[in-house]
Amino acid sequence: MPLLGGYHRRLLRVNLSTGKWRVEEIDEGDLELFVGGKSLAYLLAYREIPPGTDPLSPSNRLYFATGPFSALVPGASKVTVMAKSPLTRLLHDSHAGDFFGPFLRRAGYDVLVVEGASRDPVYLHVSSRGVEVLDASGLWGLTTRETTLELRRRHGGRVSVAAVGPAGERLVRFATIVFDEERAAGRGGLGAVMGSKRLKAIVVEGDGEPPRPAEPEALRAEGEKWYNYFATSPRFADMRIYGTTNALIYSAAVGMSPAYNFETPSIPEDLAAKLSGDAIKELEVEPPWFIHGGSCPVRCARYVEAVYKGVRFRVKPEYENLAMLGAATGVFDREAVLYFNRLADDLGLDTISAGATIAWLLELAERGLIGEDEVGFPVKGFGDAEAVERLLRLIAERRGIGAVLAEGVKRASEILGRGGELAVHVKGLEAPAWDPRGRRGLAVSYATADVGASHLRGWPRTSEPPSAGPAKDVVASMARSRDDDALRDSLSLCRFVSYPSSELPKLYRLVTGAERSLDELYQAPQRAEALARIHAALDWLLPPVHDDVPPKWMKGQPTGPLKGVAAFLGEDDKREAIREYYRLRGWHETLGVPLPETLERLGIAWAAGDAERALRVVEERARAAGLLG
Ligand code: SF4
Repeated sequence: MPLLGGYHRRLLRVNLSTGKWRVEEIDEGDLELFVGGKSLAYLLAYREIPPGTDPLSPSNRLYFATGPFSALVPGASKVTVMAKSPLTRLLHDSHAGDFFGPFLRRAGYDVLVVEGASRDPVYLHVSSRGVEVLDASGLWGLTTRETTLELRRRHGGRVSVAAVGPAGERLVRFATIVFDEERAAGRGGLGAVMGSKRLKAIVVEGDGEPPRPAEPEALRAEGEKWYNYFATSPRFADMRIYGTTNALIYSAAVGMSPAYNFETPSIPEDLAAKLSGDAIKELEVEPPWFIHGGSCPVRCARYVEAVYKGVRFRVKPEYENLAMLGAATGVFDREAVLYFNRLADDLGLDTISAGATIAWLLELAERGLIGEDEVGFPVKGFGDAEAVERLLRLIAERRGIGAVLAEGVKRASEILGRGGELAVHVKGLEAPAWDPRGRRGLAVSYATADVGASHLRGWPRTSEPPSAGPAKDVVASMARSRDDDALRDSLSLCRFVSYPSSELPKLYRLVTGAERSLDELYQAPQRAEALARIHAALDWLLPPVHDDVPPKWMKGQPTGPLKGVAAFLGEDDKREAIREYYRLRGWHETLGVPLPETLERLGIAWAAGDAERALRVVEERARAAGLLG
């Protein structure tokens, strides 16, 4: 059989304990079954990170995986970053761009793996010539932006830089890896994994050629056609104008905003308008250079310039940042929220987890459950911008109450011994800025997502509220959307350059030369999800208990058009919908573990023994928890 086009089939492995590196060949069969990017990273992590691994130990590994479209198809800008998460102790993927993935491919590699840990701070310089492990002691302590600018100064403009900030160095459990100053692999604390390896940054020089696609001429023509479509179609006009910044107007109107720590999903339009796309656009400036220029037809990300407390700064805001650092904390002062966004990026903090954790603390203060004696300074409650700014810094420095919040909202509530019922997370991952009490079935996505509360794991194809009928009825559409999202992550496609799903097999054929139907392609992420679930079950997960949603979402909305509407019609509706998901996936109907016959159907029968073991382990845990007779 001819080899697939569109891959180098080269994995670059760097061991920071020894300072050595080597290039390994990626097995053709693995590419056939797992495509690349996210799905391939799950396969590699499944093989190489045993369940029980301490996420902050040298045994954890950090993967940067590209898919076959990277550097070959317009909008294929993303790289998957994956490791075992220090926040959830689950395998976790996060995606970022824009140049890092394509540059890695141009340097001659599909995947970069970092293992071990250095004794002293280092950074990597990766190029087609190999890897240099370089001294980073002079960079330690710098912000992500300062680090990136310094490394660009040292290595020239045609490099992409992934860096951690002070939060990653201090092992904040929701520290990010920031790419080229602006774009973050934000979720799951992957920056802390990088910090635990004393790895300050990775510089990639795109000094070679991407792999050759199977049908270069036809792919070029197809790429041009789609580039023009995304760049000009009215369908993407909003995205081109606002990016995601206008979404608070929508989420507030449909009862899905995270306002006031998810206490008030519906907020008045005039309040939401303070952080709307139009409000943000008033501050838009043309950047001196446009990082997305040339490669992206949509260019959703826009620079704005603002002044806060006399400090002038630039930032590229997104909905999640505005909603979680703003609406969730009750701060609707535009300049303040943009400044928090800039600060979180510089310090290397996940804006979603940081916003959710701080919002939780503000709610404790509102309710009189925490005071100045424990926080270290007076906190007024929601809307206290001074407190938000101070807490962001304290978290990144792990100082005072910041050391508690740096553990994430779940652990923080356990450490303080209160507020667990107010903490909005699933499996330890703080919830993003979409309250599922506004859309039927979305809570099933949060409950069953392999990484915890993620908004990137499939949305049900309905805009009905949960009161419209059983959640079970929309689970199949959520599962399909989950496959579709994960396939794009496996191909390296940006979600906002949204090729019709029906076009993906054709593009895949032009790149790789292989004929696959859409359903066959969807099997790649299904395989990855099954492996993630087995891994989690062998580690600590008890699906019937942990596939759940926070108590707040089981209560009706307090105000607005959806007053009284909860995420589900009731407990039975929730359990039925979650079981429906297990059934659709071919998992054990009540224990939520993939069945051996499912793995056979997916072509990964080699994992069936692990699945049987995982089932026995979960059964024992369920029995010990009194869930089984
Ligand atoms: S659509 Fe936005 S996020 Fe996606 S590649 Fe383009 S600029 Fe980057």
